[in-house]
Amino acid sequence: MSENNHTPNRYTITAALPYTNGPIHIGHLAGVYVPADIYARYLRLTGKEVAFVCGSDEHGVAISMKAKKEDVTPKEIIDKYHTIIKKSFQDFGITFDNYSRTSADVHHETASEFFKKLYEQSDFIEETTAQLYDEEAKQFLADRFVIGTCPKCGHEEAYGDQCENCGSSLNATDLINPKSTITGSTPTTKETKHWFLPLDRYEGFLREWILEGHKNDWKPNVYGQCKSWIDGGLEPRAVTRDLDWGIPVPVEGGEGKVLYVWFDAPIGYISSTKEWAEREGKDWEPYWKDENTKLVHFIGKDNIVFHCIIFPAILKSHGGYILPENVPANEFLNLEGNKLSTSKNWAVWLHEYLEEFPDMQDVLRYTLTANAPETKDNDFTWKDFQARNNNELVAILGNFINRVVVLTNKYYEGVVPAPSNFTELDRETLDTLKKYPEIISTSLERYRFREAAQEFMNLARLGNKYLADEEPWKVIKQDEERVKTIMYVALQIAAGLAVLSEPFLPFTSSKLKEILAVGSSAEETSWNDVSTKETLLTAEHKINQSQLLFRKIEDSEIQKQLDKLEAAKKANENENKVVTPQKDTITFDDFTKLDMRVGTIIEAEKMPKTKKLLVLKVDTGIDTRTIVSGIAESFKAEDIIGKKVTVLVNLAPRPLRGVESQGMILMTENKEGKLVFVNPDEDGVGNGEGIN
Ligand SMILES: [Zn+2]
Repeated sequence: MSENNHTPNRYTITAALPYTNGPIHIGHLAGVYVPADIYARYLRLTGKEVAFVCGSDEHGVAISMKAKKEDVTPKEIIDKYHTIIKKSFQDFGITFDNYSRTSADVHHETASEFFKKLYEQSDFIEETTAQLYDEEAKQFLADRFVIGTCPKCGHEEAYGDQCENCGSSLNATDLINPKSTITGSTPTTKETKHWFLPLDRYEGFLREWILEGHKNDWKPNVYGQCKSWIDGGLEPRAVTRDLDWGIPVPVEGGEGKVLYVWFDAPIGYISSTKEWAEREGKDWEPYWKDENTKLVHFIGKDNIVFHCIIFPAILKSHGGYILPENVPANEFLNLEGNKLSTSKNWAVWLHEYLEEFPDMQDVLRYTLTANAPETKDNDFTWKDFQARNNNELVAILGNFINRVVVLTNKYYEGVVPAPSNFTELDRETLDTLKKYPEIISTSLERYRFREAAQEFMNLARLGNKYLADEEPWKVIKQDEERVKTIMYVALQIAAGLAVLSEPFLPFTSSKLKEILAVGSSAEETSWNDVSTKETLLTAEHKINQSQLLFRKIEDSEIQKQLDKLEAAKKANENENKVVTPQKDTITFDDFTKLDMRVGTIIEAEKMPKTKKLLVLKVDTGIDTRTIVSGIAESFKAEDIIGKKVTVLVNLAPRPLRGVESQGMILMTENKEGKLVFVNPDEDGVGNGEGIN
């Protein structure tokens, strides 16, 4: 089944379950949901049976942690984000046949059944091991409840399950210098029993299935990651956790434990299919168990190991299930040169995008496809977004359609004219149009969505060029008969674009079908009709008036987005500034021992052969004294003469590089690490005034 020697009619397409601890942003859309939706829409247009399933991933440590932090229940968190995420998908035209959630009963049952089956077949290893434990919070520290230094790359903020820097999958106990993310304390270790999936037992199967069977049809980035995992030696992986949020471990001894979120989440695809089949009165089983079904997982690169190694091992172990035919994982999308980050608010949130660019879903879908991170990490920039819109959607596609529709209405009151004699160019153009379904299919079948979108735009280019060469607006003055043929040819291209745009630009496709007054369902005009039908718009067919498909995006709109990102960056820097903890409590008497006065710097010079020290003469109101201060990296001596400062005057004198320093000037530090004087900035405060 690894060779593409059959053309299946049934497809199960899954898109990574979004994690319900935040809304979704353009990175998610570009990496997973837009390509998955293009693929599903395309298959439906070619008459295939498709189950396109997804759902919210609602278990796991991060949700439990967020709930603890915000002092709400996990359910409140998941309900909130499930609703937001689901709406974003609908708004952007992602045509899931079912969008479920892993908190649903059908999922709890399905995942429990999987665990029990594997348990009964003795496919797990039971082991009591020492796990990290937070004595203060009185709980085990799985996964994201602990951070520490990655043993593989030295990254200091690796999580207990994964290092985001080098991508290594980790066990919490592997971390160097682990710290609890709940209390900040250093964890102890404590014994606890868990069930492990012995991945090492699947090495032979995985080698044969992936390394031999999918050498040529899986993307190199996916194949390469799998190979490095398998060659690196697979180890048993715990599939349970000590946690109070998730699916309870359904076997004896499982009290107080739940299934590891990565054990249950991929099973969510099956649960979602069951939910859909139940609602639609279908049988779910062929979609997961029939060898003639093609299963395709759309995911981001951080999920490759779970979808290519762990989930297939679970399916294989359970028995009776098909394995994925392909896992076309994408690399990451960056934003304006920086990694997208939910916690740092470095993102374009889908719900916010639609407030600022209403009804412009297709522009984002198109930009993200044209620039998809298919083979390497890619950058989303607002300038590129503007250019794709203005130079391609507006100037090529929009312009062509508008000319065709306006001229047809102007010359023929919207009625498609009958052609007379085709020139060689007419015939060539119509023949080229007929080739496009296959050209675009070839790219789509190989999961090359960027290429497919470019080919689609090339068809619009063909139309544009045809009109520019034939100039019907000029020819109409000499040869009215010829213009009928020109417009007829151009209208066929417009109708082809209406069909072939659907996977990429679904909202535009609907509008275009409305303008051309053609059926909107796949039954009326299918993908292959563009090749096989003699004519897509027959003479005498009446079209409607033109409507705006795309509008130009102004520089000011782009600048507004860039300003917004800049503001997010600033806010984030302030928020993330590390505040040192409060010191031990002192008494009021302790405080009154400090004698702080307002003073003025009257002389300043650099201490020779030092980097940091300035020798100051300060008028304290009591006297003029010498103070040595470590501020030379933040100030030039000449710039601070005359500066009002706060001086601790009764600090015991101490020699610094041979100069006796008689007091201390109070300083603080800004977020760039530059020192700042703590100074009384109201006028009229004289030297020697006390601070208390
Ligand atoms: Zn690392």
